[in-house]
Amino acid sequence: MPIARRRTDVLPAGSVRAGKRGEMITEQGFAGTTAHNSGGGGTASAGLRIRLGGGLLHRHGDVTDRRHCGRAPQDTVRSLTAQGVATRPPRTSTTHEGKITMTMRLEGTVALVTGASSGIGAATARSLAAEGAAVALLARRRDRLEELAGAIRADGGTAIVVDADITDRQQAEEAVERAVSELGRLDTVVNNAGLMHIGPVVDALSVDWDQMLQINVQGLLYVTRAALPLLLRAAHDSPRGVADVVNISSTAGRVARPGTAVYNLTKFGVNGFTEALRQEVMQKRVRVSVVEPGTVDTELSSHIRDGLRQAVEAQVKDLELLRPEDIADAVSYIVTRDRRVAVNEILVRAAEQTW
Ligand code: NDP
Repeated sequence: MPIARRRTDVLPAGSVRAGKRGEMITEQGFAGTTAHNSGGGGTASAGLRIRLGGGLLHRHGDVTDRRHCGRAPQDTVRSLTAQGVATRPPRTSTTHEGKITMTMRLEGTVALVTGASSGIGAATARSLAAEGAAVALLARRRDRLEELAGAIRADGGTAIVVDADITDRQQAEEAVERAVSELGRLDTVVNNAGLMHIGPVVDALSVDWDQMLQINVQGLLYVTRAALPLLLRAAHDSPRGVADVVNISSTAGRVARPGTAVYNLTKFGVNGFTEALRQEVMQKRVRVSVVEPGTVDTELSSHIRDGLRQAVEAQVKDLELLRPEDIADAVSYIVTRDRRVAVNEILVRAAEQTW
């Protein structure tokens, strides 16, 4: 989504233009949408046309020209902030050539993403890297991780590969250590690696249960335990003054259904653990959050056994599935908030999904 991905990216003045009624329009993801607000509340995002109470807040014919602007960008943000609207420091600044540079919100931070070799984890790693975080990519398939790291670096980001099996406590701990020794610190952990086997409890294969418990629960615990002291330190000494754990649960962490009993058990467990840990470390400014995806188009169902997989595919065949990037957006939203804001839980269903 982001057009200006690196801090050094410069949008030509022409990519920010004045709308008919004087709104600022940038050529970004939300271009074409308009945020109207008569009461002064609401959020101003890059690429939205921004009007408050019908009054002009921001005009951008030439961003350096105050005759056209009414207010310069940073004045505008201060004004929005004063009205309780903008919750972030300015993301843009104006160069003497009248161009706009984008500042990334996670610059200087380090994120570890488990299960980064595919699906939601890969999309999340890219999204965090686009916000300026250096990312440690953790999973078992090294070739996939190398490919993703290459793509992130090609976009100007920083990524390292940490291949490990997090069901092995020692490997999980060493993976966290490697991330920190190579990248210097740890501000964000996304516990995403997971597995779903389904089927009735009667006649279930206990090896399927064991695997789910080992990855969805124990792996998450091992990584979190190893990372927490580092996150507490980051929250204490970083300029942002906050660190994050984001656990990827599921709608199955909120709604139990026949055929997914043990997957439900693991994801309800993740939700419970998340909430308890949140309360333990919140005073130290480590935020602990949970994201609960609905049905996402990933490799997750490829691990389901033949016969059962077809049943799942039939259930979702008419559904427009979520994309991994939809979940990555939720994670990015959580970890880019100001330290005073804790978004504890986000449930993201496919629009037509009932469960
Ligand atoms: P994918 O199968 O695409 O991704 C799973 C990831 O977990 C892979 O990168 C895999 O990498 C990694 N992984 C699995 N086992 C281990 C292990 N022992 N050690 C380290 N990494 C491991 O599926 P999704 O992206 O869909 O799943 C991500 C998370 O989202 C899971 O927790 C899942 O439960 C959850 N979720 C997914 C939904 C969906 O519809 N897709 C819905 C709700 C929740 P590798 O094999 O290389 O080790």
